[in-house]
Amino acid sequence: MSTQETPIAKTTTSGADVLPDYAPVPPSSLGPALNDQGYYVGRVERNLFWVTDGTYQAAFLTTPDGVILFDAPPTIGHNLQRAVDEIAAANGVSNKVTYLFYSHHHADHVGASSLFDKSVTRIGHEETRRLLLRDDDPARPPNEETFQDTRTLEIGGERIDLAWHGPNHSPDNIAIHLPDHDTLVLIDIVNPGWAPIYLSNLTEDIPGYIEASANALAYSWKHFIGGHMGRLGTRDDVTLHQQYMADISESSRQAITSVDPTPFFVKYGENAWAAVRGYLDEIAATAAAPVIEKYTGVLAAADVFTESTTFQVMQSIRLDLGHVVRAPLSAIGVKLSTRHHRSWQHRECVGPEHRLDGEASQTVRRSGRAFDRQGVSVGGSPRSPSSRNSWRTTHPSTGGRTHGVRRDCCLAGWTGSGSHGWHRSAAVVRPRRHRRRPVHGGPGHRHRERGPAVHRP
Ligand SMILES: [Zn+2]
Repeated sequence: MSTQETPIAKTTTSGADVLPDYAPVPPSSLGPALNDQGYYVGRVERNLFWVTDGTYQAAFLTTPDGVILFDAPPTIGHNLQRAVDEIAAANGVSNKVTYLFYSHHHADHVGASSLFDKSVTRIGHEETRRLLLRDDDPARPPNEETFQDTRTLEIGGERIDLAWHGPNHSPDNIAIHLPDHDTLVLIDIVNPGWAPIYLSNLTEDIPGYIEASANALAYSWKHFIGGHMGRLGTRDDVTLHQQYMADISESSRQAITSVDPTPFFVKYGENAWAAVRGYLDEIAATAAAPVIEKYTGVLAAADVFTESTTFQVMQSIRLDLGHVVRAPLSAIGVKLSTRHHRSWQHRECVGPEHRLDGEASQTVRRSGRAFDRQGVSVGGSPRSPSSRNSWRTTHPSTGGRTHGVRRDCCLAGWTGSGSHGWHRSAAVVRPRRHRRRPVHGGPGHRHRERGPAVHRP
């Protein structure tokens, strides 16, 4: 057997054959060429410089008090000091890094911190320090200097404004504004010229991530250092990113309403997770498709990562904003398992589209009795007017009153877990009465009003 006939060789060949093709990268998304050592360093404004390896970015100020470095990505690594040396020699200033600012605690942006002298002063958010103490990574010594909300420093005659506007990409990600250099350093939010990578740049807090672009534009600046890819950003880049995220949000809302979950639950039966995966992936694909079409040729890799980012945005719309997905009952002649009815029934009577007024309140009180019979705590008897408020909330996005659905309820509902308080038997919920007394015309309800009787146990 020759080498080419080995299973490994075959696997490699077939793997290469199935690798997908993507749209070309727009030339405007690319930055300057790298030097032989694999980096580019250039002037942003006056004594502020930026350095990139084509994928990651850092920046530094040369001052009479030494070099102030902003982030230390390990992919640039030793080239950080080489870039500093190059600029310092050309300008006849000190090449000694004396201060290192951390944008956030992630290793891909500060993992070369330990390359710098032990006497360097590290500055970052207090949460960055906490997380670095937790992570205990020798490559990332925790910042000794911290701040909470804002802090202004003047080092070597240069002003540096730090601000933490709340969690976004990470809990500790901060904005670094250099007002005298017309520059904003805000990492892992906007990748100028490029779509965010997986899951909105691997973002932990989507509402904060979306808000971060608006926060960025509220500052006065001309140059944007986003931490990624090969060029600096402009205000237009941030505005374009903002529009891209807004389009994803809007498209996600539409897909949540339009995609029918029934086929997935019919096909996968007892395997609820398989159905959930198929359904949510279908929402993400449906929502992403028009966005990919709009931004291909505009943002590099829009066709590579938009679906992943859309998935994360759609999850936030469900879990943070409480936008409830459809129940798998629109093809009600299909026999679904009793368990599925149980797990999905509650979702037909909750959510932003189901305001608790008029007859809807009757529905809630009826269904509330089922909880009691099942011995499931709902945080107070729904029958009791005095306790009713305890399971009603004001919905933040609609302003309408809805059930007091906890954030985890939407997930718990998938499996019919009783712990969230909305699990009840299909026998107690009476679809016929729903049909006689429709609550409203919301999309999540319409199918029920026109459908035949549901399967009963
Ligand atoms: Zn990060």
